[in-house]
Formats: sequence, structure tokens, C-alpha cells
Amino acid sequence: MSSEMKSGITRRGVVGASLIGWAALPAMDAMAATAPGLPPVGKDEIVVTLVGTGSVVPNTQRYGYCTLVQAGGLNLLIDAGRGCAVRLTQAGMPLGHIDAFFLTHFHSDHVIGLPDLWMTGYIHPYFGQRAGIMEVNGPTGTSNLCNSMRAAFSDDIRIREADEKIPDVNTQIKGNEFSKDGVIFEKNGVTVTGFEVNHGPLIKPAVGYRVDYNGLSILCSGDTKFEQNIITHGQGIDLIVHEVATANEKLSPDDQAVMNHHTSPEEAGIIFSGTKPRLAVFSHLVDLMDNQSDAWMVKETLRRVKKNWQGKTIVGDDLTRISVTKAAIKVQKFNEAKGTFA
Ligand SMILES: [Zn+2]
Ligand SMILES: [Zn+2]
Repeated sequence: MSSEMKSGITRRGVVGASLIGWAALPAMDAMAATAPGLPPVGKDEIVVTLVGTGSVVPNTQRYGYCTLVQAGGLNLLIDAGRGCAVRLTQAGMPLGHIDAFFLTHFHSDHVIGLPDLWMTGYIHPYFGQRAGIMEVNGPTGTSNLCNSMRAAFSDDIRIREADEKIPDVNTQIKGNEFSKDGVIFEKNGVTVTGFEVNHGPLIKPAVGYRVDYNGLSILCSGDTKFEQNIITHGQGIDLIVHEVATANEKLSPDDQAVMNHHTSPEEAGIIFSGTKPRLAVFSHLVDLMDNQSDAWMVKETLRRVKKNWQGKTIVGDDLTRISVTKAAIKVQKFNEAKGTFA
């Protein structure tokens, strides 16, 4: 190991012996120095960043479903789909800087990134840095997932604690479960309400979340069919992030089976008309349009939602950032080449 590498390591407080497999550290060091990170969040705003907008399909353009909500000095993460640790790091958000996690249900495309956020989050470098227990809020089953993860990955914990001197508390993960609609989290003036949605009779529990702060509110549907409870809990919201599945007008039996668990653009339009958000955003895009491009699916989704809703609507991309204040809603796209939001 060169002295240059050692100095880089020392700056980050990483124990030298821990760097087996870390040959590329100087390059990552440079990346950390240049990564601008997410823009600061004002005291009067809620910012929603669509970390991943995809579904269960492995897709390099749309990573798994995950949404970052920033308000009151807190970073809240809803779901942890495939690649969320990559997208968060790309955006300049250290994994250890997430204050609370929220799960909507236990389909793999919503939780598969959780072990990555947890374990990569408890190591020392700039992309990790969690101090303290990782708290995961979610419906009944969340504690089982968290406890099982700690058992499944006990060897990583043992090795990191011994080799990298990771404090045991930083490796702990705890589930906070709820089983009925209501407020499940309150801190710094931020209130999170969990409520039941309808992902199909065999996919229970499944919930959505509403976040309120400073007289502003946003709602994330999670995975759901058309569901009246979203309209009930979505009154007065400023922003809705809703799932959607877009299929050919004539459904095959396979497509029908998928649609039985999701919301069509037309049905989402009814939800939006019932909640009247200042901006409606689609994320968790289930693309059932055979052999069509992503761009075509986006266009078709926006065409069909208009049948039942004429308000402002966008289809999100990975790392689309939406700032909500009383005065304005501002949408920024992520420039991958520059690593900035514009
Ligand atoms: Zn899903
Ligand atoms: Zn699902």
C-alpha cells in the first residue's frame, strides 16, 4: 500500500487493515471530493427525490422503487428497491445519513436494496457513515425482516466489527411495526401517516404513506390497485407520487394478472381528481407495452391519465427531484454526466 493511499485512508478514519478489496480508494476519494451532493433543503420546503422509478424488472434506466423525502432536517426513505444504494450515492447522499426508513410491503422489488443500505451504510467511508441503530418502519413483518437480515449477515457484522472496528450499535437494525392506519412517525415537525392500500387479496399487508410538514403534504401510494383509501388520506395534498401500470388496450391473460395488482393510468386519473394535488407524479412504472420504448410508454401513460384528470402530471425518472413550497413546485432532472440537478 502506498503512503498516498494510507493518507487517504487516515483522512477518512478508516483502519488500514480493513482495506482488503479497496484498491480503488484514491479514485473514490476523488469522487467524494467532487460529488456535489443533493442541494440543500430550505426550512419551508419538502423535497421528494425519486431514487428509483422502476419495478421488479432489472433495468439500467429505471432502478428499483425507492423515494427520498427530505423535510425538517430529516432524510426519510420510502422503500428500498434494487440499486437504491447506487442511486443515493450517485446523488451525493451518504447511506448513513438516512434518518428513518419506511417500507410499503414485502415484495422483493421494494426491499431487495435494504441489506445494501444497511450494511454499506454502517461502514466508514463517505458513502456509509451511519452512527446508531437503523430504524425501519413498516407494516407487520418488518421486524421479522430486520431480525432475519441480522442473522443472515452475521458474518459480515462479526468481520467488520473485528477488522474495521465498526461499533456494534451501528450494525443494529430494528423494525417498528404498525397494523392500522394512523400516525407512525413524528419528529422535527414532520408527521408520517401510514395507511392501508390494495395490492390484491394475497399481498397483505400493503401500505402507502403521507408526509406532512410546515402545512405541506406529499403522498406515496406504494403498490396498489385503484384504492379509495388513497383518496381518503390524500385530501389537501400538494404532491402525489403514484404507481402505474401501462398495458396495451387489449390485455393478454398475463397482463390482466399483473393489472389485477396495479393501477392503470385512467384509474390513477380518478385518484388524482379525488385528491387534487398541485402536481401528480408517476413512479414505480410497470411497463406492459410489448416491444415499445420507455419513451412510448411514458407518452401513452400521460395520454391515458388525461381521460380522468387534467391537472399537471409528470412521469418521473430516476433522480428526478421535486421541491414543494407554498409558493411553487419545482422539478429538476439529474444530469448524470455532471452529477448535478438542473
Ligand atoms: Zn413493486
Ligand atoms: Zn408489489
